Amino acid sequence: MVHPLQKLIDGFERFRSDGANDPQLFSRLLEDGQKPEVMVIGCADSRVDPGVLTACRPGELFILRNVAAIVPPYGPDEQPHAASAAIEFGVLGLGVRHIVVLGHQACGGIRALAEGTVGLEFMVPWVGVMEDARRIVAGSGLEGPERLVLLEQAAVIGSLRNLLTFPWIAQRIVRGELSLHGWWFSLSEGRPLAFDPLHQAFVPLTAHVRPIDQRVDVTATGRASPLSIEGFVARAVEEAGLTAS
Ligand SMILES: [Zn+2]
Repeated sequence: MVHPLQKLIDGFERFRSDGANDPQLFSRLLEDGQKPEVMVIGCADSRVDPGVLTACRPGELFILRNVAAIVPPYGPDEQPHAASAAIEFGVLGLGVRHIVVLGHQACGGIRALAEGTVGLEFMVPWVGVMEDARRIVAGSGLEGPERLVLLEQAAVIGSLRNLLTFPWIAQRIVRGELSLHGWWFSLSEGRPLAFDPLHQAFVPLTAHVRPIDQRVDVTATGRASPLSIEGFVARAVEEAGLTAS
């Protein structure tokens, strides 16, 4: 039986010997340092590796992965905060121009949020960051897989909203130096949808989908906010009703 790590070891060798790869790539990256323009915040799920899905090369993406691609709100204290530290380093240290929150279909973390989980002492408080999304989606009247998708997408919006609570992120957006993007990867279709803040809906991903940038009122609150989970869910329910009738 082949050792599970042998595949990885062989993979390193294949990467090194692949003629499509610049043999000087890593020595150049070592000399120049990393200058990624895009940060991706993705889920730890083995099926949705941001680098693999986007066919990016080493040095192109600054990636944070955690359970359910969740961004907690800004809240500095004496505790260590892995997600916030990565965001801080990406924005302030590397000066990324874009942050993509990449949620996905059939997310185990979001399922744990929806259904509760027993015996996992770190998962519960972590996914509980999106408790307001869970509550709003639970009251939507949608059931089953539709409801789970709605919660997965609402959590992407919740993470975008939480990114705006970091003061240096909001400042950079207002100055036109940073844009936020919310994507949700459909496993059934093998492609991502993107959150369109103008229509508060997820639409096929193109470069023309408006991001959260200086054209969007990031100071708006309540239902008026383009990142209102209530607004998004209400709109999705309305659309589901129209489709059903
Ligand atoms: Zn996931």
